[in-house]
Amino acid sequence: MATFARRTEGGWLVNGQKIWTSFAQYSDRAILLAKTSNEDPRYKNLTFFLLDMKQPGITFSTIRQISGASHFAEVFFDDVFISDDDRVGEEGQGWKVAMTTLTSERGGVEGISRYVEIRGDLDILTRCCAGGTEHSATVESLDTRLELIRWQIMKALDRVDDVERFFQATCMLKVMWSELWQELTSFAVALDCPDHDEHWRNQYLETRACSIYSGANEIQRNIIGDRVLGLPR
Ligand SMILES: Cc1cc2nc3c(=O)[nH]c(=O)nc-3n(C[C@H](O)[C@H](O)[C@H](O)COP(=O)(O)OP(=O)(O)OC[C@H]3O[C@@H](n4cnc5c(N)ncnc54)[C@H](O)[C@@H]3O)c2cc1C
Repeated sequence: MATFARRTEGGWLVNGQKIWTSFAQYSDRAILLAKTSNEDPRYKNLTFFLLDMKQPGITFSTIRQISGASHFAEVFFDDVFISDDDRVGEEGQGWKVAMTTLTSERGGVEGISRYVEIRGDLDILTRCCAGGTEHSATVESLDTRLELIRWQIMKALDRVDDVERFFQATCMLKVMWSELWQELTSFAVALDCPDHDEHWRNQYLETRACSIYSGANEIQRNIIGDRVLGLPR
């Protein structure tokens, strides 16, 4: 990581750049993980900040995705000021804070919103594009797997007071919904439905990224192996 925050009066001055920042062009506030030491070892040299995006020194260039949309941008920081009040956690503890944040991003809240989105797509399939008996086995199988995600979310919510058991229950959600959504859109785009052709083309292209963002699924499987199944490293 090259983006560096150095101490100044009352706060920090940030210089550097960050690619793949979702919705950067619309945001008032953002999370920033920056290097704050050149001496401390890896994982102990980062600090976690909240950042005002509408201030001098911040510029960005939007990135065009394969679907044609531009949901994210590369952001550039040129002597950007952050008040010390906007530091989250201790100096040098940024990696730990970031891992907690990512656990939420890959966990229950994301699982619920993705369940709703995939349910919407499955409804379109059932109502229109794959409504006949020819595709019923595939649609039922997708539906069953989607309901398993809902059950897994309910199971996690039951354990919300126990941090480790809640984590274990939400851990596999990201892998489950991302692979299901990719499969669903791959199936749907091949149906060539005249009413939903454009929708499925867009969804097919957009969902290619969901096994990458919030951490690649391979990394997530390593976490499941390690912290849920207790497999040897
Ligand atoms: C649409 C989109 C939006 C994004 N939005 C944001 C954002 O808002 N903010 C932000 O900070 N980032 C964002 N990102 C970046 C995203 O978080 C990273 O791309 C993602 O975490 C993967 O990290 P990486 O690109 O460094 O790839 P890596 O983790 O380096 O992975 C590269 C390849 O190696 C494989 N791999 C890596 N480690 C292992 C392992 N241990 N075992 C097996 N295989 C492995 C991976 O599966 C992958 O195929 C976004 C990315 C996308 C695609």
